[in-house]
Amino acid sequence: MKIPVVKQILTGNDQIAAENEQTFRENGVFALNLMAAPGAGKTTFILATIDHLPADVRPAVIEGDLASTIDADTISQRGVPVIQINTGGGCHLDAPMVRNSLPHFALSDIDLLFIENVGNLVCPSNFKLGTALSVVVSSTAEGHDKPYKYPGIFATADVVILTKADILEVFEFDREYFERGLKAVNQHAPLFVVSGRTGAGIDAWVAWLLDRRRGYTAAI
Ligand code: MG
Ligand code: ZN
Repeated sequence: MKIPVVKQILTGNDQIAAENEQTFRENGVFALNLMAAPGAGKTTFILATIDHLPADVRPAVIEGDLASTIDADTISQRGVPVIQINTGGGCHLDAPMVRNSLPHFALSDIDLLFIENVGNLVCPSNFKLGTALSVVVSSTAEGHDKPYKYPGIFATADVVILTKADILEVFEFDREYFERGLKAVNQHAPLFVVSGRTGAGIDAWVAWLLDRRRGYTAAI
């Protein structure tokens, strides 16, 4: 008996995400999709990461926001190539938005591309961008129950970053409870506990990130 095989047909966004992925590969760009709630400290975390990169790893940033260029201005002041995507109220980035921004970069001069998604823990994980890594950022200030309340986004993460570790005690953050919630929905994503402000924990995260990038570039 012949068993019917139903292939998933790529829908519009997935199709363009696959094209973005191809563009990144061709240019040796290792791209990250950073997802978090508003105010989690994504921009500060990106800048702390960039500060800890070796000189031969060239970063760039795409900033996704509902409106404004506040975060992009901060990045630009550091001399890092940055593009602002204003979604005009849209609550997530999608693959076409990323594709349309890419011609503004000299992609062959970029090794690491940080894509800061719109602050939102619900739908950004439903829209592939073509990135190599999904990063979910959560802060101690938001509370230790985030993985329980937003399991969907934590389940899709390749890596989870807990920021604002320097004020963990102030918020009586229960790290074990947080980790238990994370493990319940995602067994493979490592957790890095960092402070973008003091730089604590950033070295370990950067070492892991560069290792993942080496595996990616070796496969190109
Ligand atoms: Mg930001
Ligand atoms: Zn959305």
